[in-house]
Amino acid sequence: MEITFTGKRALVTGAGKGIGRATALALARGGAEVVAVTRTQADLDTLVHECPSIKPVCVDLADWDATEHALKDVGPIDLLVNNAGCARLQSFLEITQDSFDMSFNVNVKAALHVAQIVARGMKARGSGGSILNISSQASHRAFKDHAVYCATKGALDMLTKVMALELAPYQIRVNSVNPTVVLTDMAKIGWSDPVKANAMISRIPMGKFAEVEDVVHAILFLLSDKSAMTNGAFLPIDGGFLAS
Ligand code: NDP
Repeated sequence: MEITFTGKRALVTGAGKGIGRATALALARGGAEVVAVTRTQADLDTLVHECPSIKPVCVDLADWDATEHALKDVGPIDLLVNNAGCARLQSFLEITQDSFDMSFNVNVKAALHVAQIVARGMKARGSGGSILNISSQASHRAFKDHAVYCATKGALDMLTKVMALELAPYQIRVNSVNPTVVLTDMAKIGWSDPVKANAMISRIPMGKFAEVEDVVHAILFLLSDKSAMTNGAFLPIDGGFLAS
């Protein structure tokens, strides 16, 4: 099955590192014109150096007004990957207002806002489109010290379903991927300790964490016309964790 994105314009948030960066590069390799959005200019500089066709946008997505301003001239977008996310690990009794607000602002509110901006354009052009929200296995299972993170991903999954319902009449599909641990910078914070990592791996039927490419391949499929009738779905990339 060959997937190409020639003639498509894609926007990827959190494209500076990890899954988002790999997705931006894969989309560009697949022929899409890619807009990469993140908040660290140095990451955008190295990304553009690696792939000069990528259009960089530097903005803190936790800031609603700054996001609106940064994306106002972004142009038509056919494919959106809401990938930017943060994980502040705190025990339930230690959770602060600041970490709650930051997590929901990035993981949920920014995904909603960027999707609004993009989907309004899709609707106006009558072109349809595909939106992918990067959720997590944490939307369906409780993990110690992950109360806020789990709550944001649970909220994102419901957002995905309602967006799918409301945007389908405009031929805009909305789905999520829900990975298990992928040892990016984010996950190293929580899962580098071999005792914790092995305890987690022992609960994954495939007996290993996911690789960045495992997630990217699923993202490309759900963005592409090969999944033209898939809408409102969540796709675990978890080696069977949620099935067990
Ligand atoms: P990384 O930390 O490696 O990358 C996250 C990217 O998002 C970075 O480029 C980061 O920029 C950017 N970002 C974070 N906050 C903001 C913000 N406020 N404004 C703009 N950009 C921002 O994370 P991953 O690649 O691991 O995670 C990507 C997504 O996948 C997240 O939504 C995460 O929840 C999800 N996920 C990850 C899993 C894992 O185990 N890694 C498992 C399941 C889901 P900067 O570095 O400058 O902050």
